[in-house]
Amino acid sequence: MTTETNKIPYKIYLEEHEMPKQWYNVRADMKNKPAPLANPGTGEPMTAEELEAVFCKELVKQELDDTTPYIDIPQEIQDFYKMYRPSPLVRAYCLEEKLQTPAKIYYKFEGNNTSGSHKLNSAIAQAYYAKEQGLKGVTTETGAGQWGTALSMACSYFGLDCNVYMVKVSYEQKPFRREVMRTYGAKVTPSPSETTAIGRKILEEHPGTTGSLGCAISEAVEAATSQEGYRYVLGSVLSQVLLHQSVVGLETKTALDKYNIKPDIIIGCAGGGSNLGGLISPFMGEKLRGENDYQFIAVEPASCPSLTRGKYAYDFCDTGKVCPLQKMYTLGSGFIPSPNHAGGLRYHGMSGIVSQLYADGLMEARAVEQTEVFAAAVEFARVEGILPAPESSHAIKVAIDEAKKCKETGEEKTIVFGLTGTGYFDMYAYESFNNGTMTDYIPTDADLAAGFASLPKIEK
Ligand SMILES: *Cc1c(COP(=O)(O)O)cnc(C)c1O
Repeated sequence: MTTETNKIPYKIYLEEHEMPKQWYNVRADMKNKPAPLANPGTGEPMTAEELEAVFCKELVKQELDDTTPYIDIPQEIQDFYKMYRPSPLVRAYCLEEKLQTPAKIYYKFEGNNTSGSHKLNSAIAQAYYAKEQGLKGVTTETGAGQWGTALSMACSYFGLDCNVYMVKVSYEQKPFRREVMRTYGAKVTPSPSETTAIGRKILEEHPGTTGSLGCAISEAVEAATSQEGYRYVLGSVLSQVLLHQSVVGLETKTALDKYNIKPDIIIGCAGGGSNLGGLISPFMGEKLRGENDYQFIAVEPASCPSLTRGKYAYDFCDTGKVCPLQKMYTLGSGFIPSPNHAGGLRYHGMSGIVSQLYADGLMEARAVEQTEVFAAAVEFARVEGILPAPESSHAIKVAIDEAKKCKETGEEKTIVFGLTGTGYFDMYAYESFNNGTMTDYIPTDADLAAGFASLPKIEK
């Protein structure tokens, strides 16, 4: 055969029969398990019974399962996945050419569905288990709207009510994702709202507030626990979400294995850690079992640096302090990123699984500034044809950095990164970059100290 026919294709697809039939639970192979969720009142580990008041029963089981390595994907979820998966693993030949690098770059593109991101992978699973339990509906929060959009699609598929508390500033300034949600039948309420006790309290204390993710979470939890037949669902951070997102890593691994490709570096952007955790899980499993070694890099915004500058401690997941406490790398639930921050990934904490892997030195983290992230996004868009989400562009930035290092050293490293979504609904951020008005802000130690002061005082 000539080298031409041996060439790795631009897109590596999988056949339907090669798609994962089980999710992989990386906790089963972790020596140090993530710390248990704790009761915000007592600091004691949350029991299944306590968690079931808030979350769906089967999802609680998955949340607490630290030992089962593979969990069957129910047939209905496999069938839904087949509508928009497998997602392509793309060889970035054009980017390599542009960079003149000997590195081989691949990206797993999750933006090929209407919700525009990887979040649908977990939304459909969570909606399925809610339906199975005989619930009427679910409640959730959304910031810019990616998670709410994915969940509204999943709920309409299973005929569930979907109540979304959307951070007020996004509700008003980002009408498009709001309308996608309503098109799929979701009820979208700007948060804080008068519909919950916590919303009324926040409005009274901070009249005119434009809301926050932490506040919308509190409202969504209250709405779920105060209505018969409803539960709360969350689109990131939790271990169950990383479990569902392992479909991304499993497909990536199968596709690479078909061509005997072994990655050297695997890169993901990190907000709550779900796409990163899902992408790296099967590879991390091999590393944990001593079968293979990889370099893993989490990329976060320098303006919201939970892994690189946060504390590893039990913290609140929400402003209203009604959710279980989680031990994680955190900036404190009182931390608010500077108002000029446009690149997403603004949650104050990080997945417990990713936090533990990072604490154990099994992966690295880098913080990058938003103007360099958008510069990388534009460079990528112009050669690879996809307009990336600002979140995804954090991973692009570091992939390009690593490819440039290879150019200097002559090393032919194989780099894989997660391209989590498209940026069509983020054009105000692109506009400020294109106009040259985008700025960077790195919080000072004093800024961070204010967030750390909001950490709960528990000795754990
Ligand atoms: C939500 C989102 C992220 C960040 O969430 P993780 O849980 O950290 O994966 C990244 N990219 C896109 C496109 C998103 O919508």
